[in-house]
Amino acid sequence: MLEGKTESVIFFISDPNTEWTKTEKKEMVQLIYDAENWLIDQAKDNGKQLYFSHHFFGWEQDIVVPAIQDGVRSGYEDVTLAKKITEIIGYDSPLQILEQFPADNTQLLFVLKKDGASYAFAYDEGMADEYYVEGMAIYHRFSPDMPNCVACVAHEMLHLFGAHDYYKTFQTTLEQETEAKAKYPDSIMLRTSYDINELNIDPITKWRIGWSGTKPSRTDFFNPVPYPQSPVENSTEIIGIKTDEASLEKDTSPKELDSSNDDSRKK
Ligand SMILES: [Zn+2]
Repeated sequence: MLEGKTESVIFFISDPNTEWTKTEKKEMVQLIYDAENWLIDQAKDNGKQLYFSHHFFGWEQDIVVPAIQDGVRSGYEDVTLAKKITEIIGYDSPLQILEQFPADNTQLLFVLKKDGASYAFAYDEGMADEYYVEGMAIYHRFSPDMPNCVACVAHEMLHLFGAHDYYKTFQTTLEQETEAKAKYPDSIMLRTSYDINELNIDPITKWRIGWSGTKPSRTDFFNPVPYPQSPVENSTEIIGIKTDEASLEKDTSPKELDSSNDDSRKK
């Protein structure tokens, strides 16, 4: 349930050929903060209190991995990222991070110095315990000309709390997308935009993330379809952004960050 204290543990990752600059890191942190603040506002509108606390790894020096996988919406995105990265920084298991930062929810945000389509790895019943820690891969940009977007990050965060896509993917049918377009044209699970304020959280998604007690009709119709080809069923999520929606947010000034730890933030 997306409520109470959510711990965002943020990892800055690069490979031997790349490096994050401080400015870029701050921009990515601002992107995450803006997404969280939008979710806080949405929660408040629904009578839910939500706040985020942050811890950073790789802030002073990147966490370097041998190679960063392409984010190409294949359905075969690496869902073992949490395990690999936490091992590199000296933990036995991602579960240790959960123990270290107690919260109602914890999300691991892997910020990758590469361009690609970001994706979330949400835990589903029946998956191995090592996938229990939920997180997402946030790529630097979609491409050199197409920055990442606040709505994209918020969309991925919602996946971690039970939201499902409405646009056609390897887990969503065209029939589902068509009905969603008619009923929830501005749902953040249907489309993204560089202006997050034109988007909302639709009633079915609100129910799925625990913000409403009454299950809306047609909820089950929008259940994701099985994806038997995937090595880890129902494990990866992807998001695209329509290029014709590009209109950048003006406020991109990053908060000043001067340590590897950030105090909890409450709005
Ligand atoms: Zn999605």
